Amino acid sequence: MLQRQKGIILRSARTGEADRILTLLLEDNRSLPLRYHGIRASQKRSQLAIQPGNLVEVVYYEKSEAPVLSIKELSLLQEFQIPPTYDNLQKLAAILALVQASAHGDAPGLFSLCTGALEALQEQVNPTGPGQTAHPNNNASVRPPSGASPPTNAATGAAPSGNNVRHPSETHTVFLDLLAFLIVRIYKIQGLLASPERCSRCETPLWKENSWPPEDMQPSSWILPNLEFLCPRCSLLENRRAQLADTGHALWIYLAFGQRFHRFRDALGSLNGLKFPAASGVEGSARPNHPSTVDESGRPDTGAGQIDSPEILQPNTAGLLVQCIQDFLGNLKELRIYSD
Ligand SMILES: [Zn+2]
Repeated sequence: MLQRQKGIILRSARTGEADRILTLLLEDNRSLPLRYHGIRASQKRSQLAIQPGNLVEVVYYEKSEAPVLSIKELSLLQEFQIPPTYDNLQKLAAILALVQASAHGDAPGLFSLCTGALEALQEQVNPTGPGQTAHPNNNASVRPPSGASPPTNAATGAAPSGNNVRHPSETHTVFLDLLAFLIVRIYKIQGLLASPERCSRCETPLWKENSWPPEDMQPSSWILPNLEFLCPRCSLLENRRAQLADTGHALWIYLAFGQRFHRFRDALGSLNGLKFPAASGVEGSARPNHPSTVDESGRPDTGAGQIDSPEILQPNTAGLLVQCIQDFLGNLKELRIYSD
């Protein structure tokens, strides 16, 4: 019986004399290997159409007894504009490897997550190119799961997310955020993510949920590689007092959990440079600058002996998430350069 479906090519491997096995993530969220007979010897059919990352439409024979099904027709629907530099191809490979490793069992939403990630990558690697489309500032898009309402970056002075050529280190950070965002969503799809804003044992909120920026943040300990956190009391009970740290990691995951990537980035931007309030209740200094510009230089002004309060965001949440997912999916060589 013939089937027709859209799919993203996750992998393309040579086989036999002139064939390829294409692993596709189909729009019904299944991952399927399909044999494309004679493609490597074909003059008529496009070799460009079968590049990993492309969105294609396939017609294939569905036969229950065949170990690998055969492609009858394949047509290119969309080629994401990723300039083929070494760095860009590494990024593309990381996304596709991550999606392929998580495409088993029931994975509702994985196909749209994958296409969304490829669109975001395309936008990142073409900051001034014609493929750049400004994201609509859509207030109807998904918001964080609580009543808190992060301001957009217009209010913070953070760098706008398009139209400017980025510095290489910023490009790396933006991609790492995308990769880690994808990881949080994969945890969610696989049913491994509960409520990062609450203690996973006693369900005490880790910060006040109806304020933005978050108030009354408690320290917590992260139960790696799960995306779960313990409040100070439960950390003590479970002998994890030494791992108690601030709750920036939980907040990062919470923000990625409930909104689109662009709004998530805006929310992160609005937290850059914000500090935890001091223990005495003194308001923390809100300095909406890039983290690299707000370090020790502020210390002499605060007076001798006063301990500088930590910034809300931690620098390494994304890298830790890349490590975490590999505990579940196995060590993926495409992700190694992105873990801490
Ligand atoms: Zn607790």
